[in-house]
Amino acid sequence: MARYTGAVCKLCRREGFKLFLKGDRCFSAKCALTKRPFAPGQHGSTTRKLTQYGMQLRSKQALKRIYGLLELQFRKYFEIASTSSEETGNALMTLLESRIDNVIYRMGFASSRRQARQLVNHGHVLVNGRKVNKPSFGVKPESVIEIKEKSKGIVPIKESMEAARDRSTPPWLEVDFDALRGTFLRAPSRDEIDVPVNLQSIIELYSK
Ligand code: SF4
Repeated sequence: MARYTGAVCKLCRREGFKLFLKGDRCFSAKCALTKRPFAPGQHGSTTRKLTQYGMQLRSKQALKRIYGLLELQFRKYFEIASTSSEETGNALMTLLESRIDNVIYRMGFASSRRQARQLVNHGHVLVNGRKVNKPSFGVKPESVIEIKEKSKGIVPIKESMEAARDRSTPPWLEVDFDALRGTFLRAPSRDEIDVPVNLQSIIELYSK
């Protein structure tokens, strides 16, 4: 599956807030947005008032970038969400939060969704005992996610896990850090998700 391979810090600077795409660096003084809190490019530091369309576009771009998706993949999620019996914004967030790369990141086995995606791509992850190597794999409630026995010694996984021990685990997950195993109890509700994006703007954008 295609993915964005450009400079990720530029994406945060474009959106004007942290998208947390680089793991620990995002929490340090080295964060590019902390050092240069304006958009990239020649006119990046010039303040411009966004039109309504501009705001809708920024909301969509930000959400897409947080979850590491390209336009086509994101659009597909939106289409599925819009045909759901649930409210579209909630359904969209459920789909995004249920992706295995996101679940691995939320459980703390990777320091960013990008790293989580790599772990999945390289076959280090099992869901209910079976290898899953597609980052878009949708995790169902009560599924058990674990790092493969042979992969448990991988240094970035151990480092991420140690850092995650000090943070609180989201209430929709259960994690055994020693076993590098966790359960996806349920999809989170919108108000439990720390993603500062206006979903209504995205719905309006795609409804045009
Ligand atoms: Fe964004 Fe992280 Fe880069 Fe800061 S370090 S600009 S939060 S990706």
